[in-house]
Amino acid sequence: MLLPIYVYGHPVLRKVGVEIGPDYEGFEELHKNMWETMYHSDGVGLAAPQIGLAIRLFVIDGSPMADEFPELEGFKKTFINAEILEYGPDKEWDSEGCLSIPGIREEVPRPHRIRIKYLDENFQPQEEVLEGFAARIVQHEYDHIEGKLFVDYLSPLRKRLIKGKLNAITVGKVHTDYRIRLPK
Ligand code: ZN
Repeated sequence: MLLPIYVYGHPVLRKVGVEIGPDYEGFEELHKNMWETMYHSDGVGLAAPQIGLAIRLFVIDGSPMADEFPELEGFKKTFINAEILEYGPDKEWDSEGCLSIPGIREEVPRPHRIRIKYLDENFQPQEEVLEGFAARIVQHEYDHIEGKLFVDYLSPLRKRLIKGKLNAITVGKVHTDYRIRLPK
């Protein structure tokens, strides 16, 4: 089932997600719906707050971008209760967008390398080191479960320049090929 994407200005996007366990009601269905919604919206990642749930769950499939970023070849994973344990010292700038902030792309600085632990879709513990665009997508989705958005990293000048577009999103004056849920 396709789920509507909650967009910029909705308070659920600012909540810190809570951890979940294998007993989380309807997990399988929810997990399946998140994949379906992400692929339908042409996203490479989707976090639970974006479908209105403040829980620590996100899914990523970076393979559509593997031509440009080889580290994304086969990078398809579910992250439950993720915790970033370590950030590498070097930062890189690259362009990011977000299904919750349609029509806006901006350059965002992110550490090139991270170490992360999480539970996979079978609630088995995993720990790994990620680099490059894989590390970037994970940090973007991880921010969602921490109540943060990529526009938070912009300079005051860039923020001022896109303020009108952000305001337009909050009232639904934006085109998307997927269903959205506006802030009330
Ligand atoms: Zn996003």
